[in-house]
Amino acid sequence: MSACDPYRQFVAALADGEAELVPAATLDHVEHCADCSREVQAHRLLTSRLREASEHLDGAAPRRPRVWVRTRRSAAIAAAAAALLAVAAVAAVWSGLSRPDPVQAAVAASSQPLQIQSTDPSQVGEWCFRASGRGLPAIQLDGMRVIGARMDRVPSTDIVTVVYSAPAGERVSVSWLEGQAPVGSGVETRSASVHPVLIVHSALGTAVITGSSSAVMWKAAAAIESTATWAQLLASRPQQLVDQLL
Ligand SMILES: [Zn+2]
Repeated sequence: MSACDPYRQFVAALADGEAELVPAATLDHVEHCADCSREVQAHRLLTSRLREASEHLDGAAPRRPRVWVRTRRSAAIAAAAAALLAVAAVAAVWSGLSRPDPVQAAVAASSQPLQIQSTDPSQVGEWCFRASGRGLPAIQLDGMRVIGARMDRVPSTDIVTVVYSAPAGERVSVSWLEGQAPVGSGVETRSASVHPVLIVHSALGTAVITGSSSAVMWKAAAAIESTATWAQLLASRPQQLVDQLL
């Protein structure tokens, strides 16, 4: 863990000018840390370029091609998801369950009461940091509202569970496994007792997702994957990204 890790979850809020959501210690760190400042700058540029691009599309592009592009893209995503499922099904057959299973433990944790209830992402993030001693890989997920969190321990694995509510009111839990997480790649589906679960193996870490519908679970998985992609890009070559955007 680098000294900057606990502060990285607030980069998006800082870049979006929401400094009131950011703890004072983070503001102080970012002000004096060249790496973090660069990351905020890169994020800000990225956001403004994305906004410009989408405004341009909304204003100028004819409607029909956009629908066509979207449909093609959805089909490609569905095909990729189907391929992942086939691979995951084979992997599941081969994986034994000799050790206490952190995935089962995460599913059990997700049905337990919240230990902190708050819709303030920075407050929940700080609570998780204090409870687990680690910065959470991602707290804000696109289109989801944080409602609280809890922390559980099983032998060799810490489980930090963050619970969200989606716009239609569905509930979804994301449990980050710290320690001996199951190996794998991409998104894996598994039936843990009666609950279907998704296991996301991302660059940010491994998360177990449970929820009130499979649609909302896949939505959370997609949000984690896209957050991981941007985080990786920003962490690996922030200066090149800034140069490219400028
Ligand atoms: Zn830093």
